[in-house]
Amino acid sequence: MFETTARCYDGRSSEQQDVNILIDKEKLCVVNTLTGEKNNISLNTISSIERYNDEFRIELKSIDASIPSALFFFKNERFFQEIHSKWNQRNNLILFFINFFSTVPIYKRIAITSVATCICIVLFYIALTNFYRLIPVKYDQYLGKKIDKQLEQFFDISNSDKMDAFIHKAKITLSDTEDIFDYKIKIIHSPIVNAIALPGGYIYLFSGLIKNSKNPEEVLGIIAHEMGHVQKRHGIQQLVRNIGMAFITTIIIGITVEGVEIFENIELISEITSFLVLLKYSRSFEAEADQIAAKKLDQKKISVQGIIDFFSRLSKDEDLIHPNKKSHKKSNNTSEEKESFFTIPDYLSTHPSNKNRIHFFMDMKRKQQSAPSKLFDYEKRNWNLIKDSLPETE
Ligand SMILES: [Zn+2]
Repeated sequence: MFETTARCYDGRSSEQQDVNILIDKEKLCVVNTLTGEKNNISLNTISSIERYNDEFRIELKSIDASIPSALFFFKNERFFQEIHSKWNQRNNLILFFINFFSTVPIYKRIAITSVATCICIVLFYIALTNFYRLIPVKYDQYLGKKIDKQLEQFFDISNSDKMDAFIHKAKITLSDTEDIFDYKIKIIHSPIVNAIALPGGYIYLFSGLIKNSKNPEEVLGIIAHEMGHVQKRHGIQQLVRNIGMAFITTIIIGITVEGVEIFENIELISEITSFLVLLKYSRSFEAEADQIAAKKLDQKKISVQGIIDFFSRLSKDEDLIHPNKKSHKKSNNTSEEKESFFTIPDYLSTHPSNKNRIHFFMDMKRKQQSAPSKLFDYEKRNWNLIKDSLPETE
């Protein structure tokens, strides 16, 4: 128990009062030695504790600007050290800001609040853009599988032995150690020139895209690009950004506590399907997928000329993007809205200027020093045969 005798000036009169001060946890207990009157003083109300000539001084915060603040003078050094260290602990950064905030003029408070709000928004955005990392990879696979089932109810899957062999070879060739999912590449029977990447490794090429390609390298470029979206979990990232943390928290709790079965809810899955299928990736996601595509193609010495030609042709030819569609869906449970989901290729939809990405791949092409691989020579020679093996869409 630390205590000391002290002289006190209460600020109201110049008269000195003799007091006894006792440190009691987070407050000072001040007793007037003459009258026995007791006062408790919170450490928060102290504005300074310092050496003053040959003694020590405690100054309290002024309650009223017209009344000088109360002062205590004492000589006990141990008491000074004790009260000083306690007060310093209390007087931490947060209290400093609270005190500071309460003393500044209103216009400064508004400015400080605005800056603090902006900082909070930025921090929230950073948290939101990184939140997907907390979602287990198995959720991508679970969601992808659910959406895959839904899509197969709406669309026919197109295939042929020759095309299946090419797709399988493409998958094996373009997969690398950076990939976290096993790819499932399917062809949707539709004249639309598009491709979709879903969480968990599901990639859909529309047969219109394949029929409009001039060589296998063009399709390899698109597959590599879609693999980039899958590898970087762009679908889940976009879900987190758009739907928000609350929903994702539910998912995490669902997976870790109750198991994923609670997401058997068909309506929820339908909504997520629509969202991911309609999804237009941000410019930065498209650029990231392009970079991964370039890396994958370069690793296997596949020329990026294919993807350059494909993008160049698409950006010139609007009819390829919005073809006259005949019914190519399963006749039951379809609607015009669902068809319109697929009219804009994901790699064109978010890009007012497609020139940048074509320039990016042209730069890559200049850097591709080594001779092109002969891996797909057979497919190059027989491309028309392979793509014509797919059923016609109209
Ligand atoms: Zn894309």
